[in-house]
Amino acid sequence: MIVDIHTHLFAKGWVPREFFYGVARFMTREFAKQGIHETNKDVGDLLIESCNDPEAESLLVEMEEAGIDTSIIFPVDFGVALGDPELSIEDVNRKYAELAEKHPGKLIAFAGIDPRRKQAADIFRKCVEEWGMKGLKLHPSAGFYPSQKEVCLLIEKACQWNMPVLIHSGSMMMPFRSKYSQAIHLDDLAADFPDLTIIAAHSGGMFSYSQILSIMTVKLNIMVDISAWQLIADRNYPGFCKALRELMDFGGADRIFFGSDSPSFRSVMSNRDWVRLIKELPWKAPDGIKFTEEEVASVLGGNAHRLFNL
Ligand SMILES: [Zn+2]
Repeated sequence: MIVDIHTHLFAKGWVPREFFYGVARFMTREFAKQGIHETNKDVGDLLIESCNDPEAESLLVEMEEAGIDTSIIFPVDFGVALGDPELSIEDVNRKYAELAEKHPGKLIAFAGIDPRRKQAADIFRKCVEEWGMKGLKLHPSAGFYPSQKEVCLLIEKACQWNMPVLIHSGSMMMPFRSKYSQAIHLDDLAADFPDLTIIAAHSGGMFSYSQILSIMTVKLNIMVDISAWQLIADRNYPGFCKALRELMDFGGADRIFFGSDSPSFRSVMSNRDWVRLIKELPWKAPDGIKFTEEEVASVLGGNAHRLFNL
């Protein structure tokens, strides 16, 4: 069984447009290297069109192609940081819940709420008690620390419902602020809520995973996902293998989840190739770095299977 623990669905009016213009800055630069000169706004508008997937049709096709059985889907609430989009965050969450209900077994929805909203606790309660959502996703780079007071209110609820909280960790592109999402800030949360399952999205970030490595070695309630690591796997395969081996050696293969952050890295690597790359680790990893089939099976789905009782 293969589970992708980190995916998003974007649709027009669900996310502030400024988010896409921030992402577009990277692509505009890449395009310029290829001699294609587009404005940032044009690239952002193109992204908004190409990511539009309100019924999860593209995601489901992508899952089929990659052999992914189940995906965890969650919204990102950038409304407090950038201004609310057309649809309220409550309605966006409900859309996610409806999609999970429409595709049982295939899609599992987490709630995504900025804890600084006045209604955050109430929206989270609706997400879980009325709409059956299974976890919480937080994006601190929108402007809050994972351990600050407003967050704790939601975390207490998550503990009460015994559900995992997946938190963006590592750096974040403009207009967001990376200082809030450095992995070190998860340490307070892990200490204050020892029974909470914390999943550090992106394992602290591709290039600063050593920070998460240091924390997860001592805080056993911290787990990680490897979404966004397609980039390093694509550009520096030996470096990727070395980093993943270290995460396994010190954190344990039973605390690492496969993830794609789809649709964000489709242009870097398809999910079919990303799954294949992980599956082939036992015989393709460079000399001196070994992975077993059991470790790969844990990461690809075994750990998620256990966490969600699939
Ligand atoms: Zn993400």
